[in-house]
Amino acid sequence: MTNHKSNTVNLITGGAGFLGSHLIDKLMAKGEEVICIDNFFTGTKNNLIQWLGNSSFELIRHDITKPITLEVDKIWHLACPASPIHYQFNPIKTAKTSFLGTYNMLGMAKRVGAKFLLASTSEIYGDPEVHPQPESYRGNVNPIGIRSCYDEGKRIAETLSFDYKRAHNLDIRVARIFNTYGPRMLPNDGRVVSNLIMQGLRNENMTLYGDGQQTRSFCYVDDLINGLIKLMNANTNGPINLGNPKEITILELAKIISKKLNISENFIFKDLPQDDPLQRKPIILEAKNKLNWSPLVNLDKGLENTINYFKNL
Ligand code: NAD
Ligand code: UDP
Repeated sequence: MTNHKSNTVNLITGGAGFLGSHLIDKLMAKGEEVICIDNFFTGTKNNLIQWLGNSSFELIRHDITKPITLEVDKIWHLACPASPIHYQFNPIKTAKTSFLGTYNMLGMAKRVGAKFLLASTSEIYGDPEVHPQPESYRGNVNPIGIRSCYDEGKRIAETLSFDYKRAHNLDIRVARIFNTYGPRMLPNDGRVVSNLIMQGLRNENMTLYGDGQQTRSFCYVDDLINGLIKLMNANTNGPINLGNPKEITILELAKIISKKLNISENFIFKDLPQDDPLQRKPIILEAKNKLNWSPLVNLDKGLENTINYFKNL
């Protein structure tokens, strides 16, 4: 559908959060119309302050587990807490957001014929036994553990998306996002990059879970957002991995951050949380071939930007 101005109208669920607000910045800069829905569980109006009052931007306080009626062209479905401490705070609510929230947004997409992009996650691979992870890997997820509300939530969200495509010919996109970091992560968000930087800046010990030998592959936020936009505009449904394939251990990450902050290495080792994946690295051949996308910002530069952001908070 089109609105009276015949501009594209974008709905971003979870747009007051870390990734959503960066996506909104990009779409607004392109001159598009943006509606943001958020219940402010982990997002804040501060992330959107630059757009409040702009006639192309609307902010709606709404919980996506409840239906809502809007006329839009593209739905970027990001609403869901992403950090383990936040999605485990109320796991039943996380499962409801993943299932009912996605169901409501798919229903809206079907009614108005909008394109629909789901922000899925590398967590659907669980603690992977195949390394690195291609999209064809079906994963190793514990269905009853403390991460399940999120992991299984995203898996059912993918299932729903593909069933809407099969049943109603909906134009869907599924992005499997790997660990992403950058400015606007919450300082108390619990994810490793923000935790280690904040601990370093406060001269506290950096908390390393387990022996710090587990790996992750960190993608800078600007790269990830470019990937999401390319995926929405491409002629492919996915699922498609979006992430930076440069893999490092958490101990290495802590050492790099210590060096960048110019502080000595002060690490305290704590128990590894249940089901914490031991290794994670995306294969991004699909994104390279189908989207002509690969990450451009290296960890050095990305961490510098992120550290500067936290210093200026
Ligand atoms: P975030 O917590 O910063 O943002 C999530 C946003 O959704 C917040 O603004 C929050 O208030 C909102 N929200 C949560 N539940 C809601 C509900 N029921 N109704 C309305 N709004 C709700 O997280 P993020 O890092 O920006 O992640 C965005 C999306 O990307 C999530 O779906 C997440 O699963 C996915 N993802 C992120 C990463 C990452 O590394 N950042 C990795 C994989 C997947
Ligand atoms: N982690 C850590 N110290 C922290 C926070 C996290 O060692 O203060 C570890 C965590 O156990 C995991 C990795 O860092 O192995 C990434 O954690 P994060 O919560 O950022 O993301 P996810 O586990 O969802 O990939």
